[in-house]
Amino acid sequence: MNKRTYRKTRMARNRKARRFRFYGLIAFLITLSIFSFRFLEKNKSINEAASLEDLSKEEISEIEHIITPSERNKEIGDIQSIIEYGTKGLIAAHYPIFHKTNIDLKTQELINGYIEEFKNEIESHGLPNKSNQYELNIDYEINIVTNNIISVTFNVLETSSYMAHPIVEIETKSYDLSNDLDIELSNIMDGEYLKFISDISENHFNVSDTYKDNIDSSIFREGIYPSIENYSNFILKEDSIVFIFDKYQLFSGNFGMPSVEIPYSDLKDYIKPSLFQVLAIEEYPSEVEAEIEEKPIDIPVPNRVIDPNIPMIALSFDDGPNKKTTIPILDTLKEYNSVATFFVLGNRVSNNVDILERIIEEGSEIGNHSYSHKELTKLSNDALNEQILLTQNAVKDHIGWEPKLLRPTYGSYNDNLKSQVQMPLILWSVDPMDWKSRNAKAVTNHILENVKDGDIVLMHDIYDSTAEAVKSLVPKLIDMGYQLVTVSELFEARGEVLEGGQIYNKGSLD
Ligand code: ZN
Repeated sequence: MNKRTYRKTRMARNRKARRFRFYGLIAFLITLSIFSFRFLEKNKSINEAASLEDLSKEEISEIEHIITPSERNKEIGDIQSIIEYGTKGLIAAHYPIFHKTNIDLKTQELINGYIEEFKNEIESHGLPNKSNQYELNIDYEINIVTNNIISVTFNVLETSSYMAHPIVEIETKSYDLSNDLDIELSNIMDGEYLKFISDISENHFNVSDTYKDNIDSSIFREGIYPSIENYSNFILKEDSIVFIFDKYQLFSGNFGMPSVEIPYSDLKDYIKPSLFQVLAIEEYPSEVEAEIEEKPIDIPVPNRVIDPNIPMIALSFDDGPNKKTTIPILDTLKEYNSVATFFVLGNRVSNNVDILERIIEEGSEIGNHSYSHKELTKLSNDALNEQILLTQNAVKDHIGWEPKLLRPTYGSYNDNLKSQVQMPLILWSVDPMDWKSRNAKAVTNHILENVKDGDIVLMHDIYDSTAEAVKSLVPKLIDMGYQLVTVSELFEARGEVLEGGQIYNKGSLD
């Protein structure tokens, strides 16, 4: 048995993670400066020939960077995703669940509200067609204040061809996990805190070169007024609180969503003693993590021989990993000494590291399926590269393996995507529409009836019905005489060298 030993430790992983964040930040700053330059150039051309589409794209990527450019933390809780490829628009909504009844219910209500609103909006504008497409993307990040107090920031992006600009919203929620409660400002502060926060905010804009000429308006006066509604969007951080103002709350739309950060130390006269006690006593999870002892793991290369003369199939799974469904799929593959390719979402990596390690340990392959499942053909190049690089880095950072293949979200590609991406773009040749039928039997039958040598089969490892289908599908394909291989193995066996920016949908020439 061919065995490769791969040594690594959690300590090393943490050190690496920190290093990565640092380099990630440097890389981001470089990208940003290049981008700013390009943005200036582009602005010029927009003025010359105004294109709403270009404006929208620039706006998207600019706003995406407001809060955390280099990393979006999801290490607390489990990530849940709703992904729809339906005729009523493209939806990818990601949200955390903490296994806390009240908090999880409220989060689901919030997400369902956005989805319902989006679908109603589409309905009122007529069903989509080729020139009329709609997309909703919701992603989130978590700020960990203490082990029990966190803030979740939801980044909501809605695009459609009837809107001149995409709708970009930031909605924040703060939670006390140990008591399963929402945190409102009034829970953590008392006295004249609103007046104090309002004064600090006003002063912040007053001394800012960007904003100072725009504060003499009734909109500003109304939006900055010390009312609870004006200050309900806030993020609790380790040492400070960040207030986010809605677009148009204080200024015109081109200012986006301005924010003001206030250190807790400045608010000490207003913060309730209970919060300070919590902040003072509790240790930050990152420090606890760093104390975990070294734990070397072995990654064996599975004992499989690929015979290029025997017909072969590459099963592929998108949108995961997902504990409930990816693990049973891996169990089935293992039982039959078979492998597959998992095109993962970068935002699901950090809380599913064990699954990713298992995929590699058992000889399967990890591919890149973007960070938060945005439609890549609609993004600016900056935002597009961010979607890809965040996933490359997340996988590399957490398991020391770098994906070599990209599966474009929604199967959408264009010349720009092909020219921007250095990786081969892997589509498929058999699509059982598992997301639509959610029926194990229908999925299995479709594949068995349509599959032939060299096919790449598309499935999604976030549905129970798909995991169920795989259970019967794998032994049947083997009985039919197929070897199950990864996408890379398929092309390698055919002697085909995959090229960056090229489209592949099957491993056979016919
Ligand atoms: Zn997908």
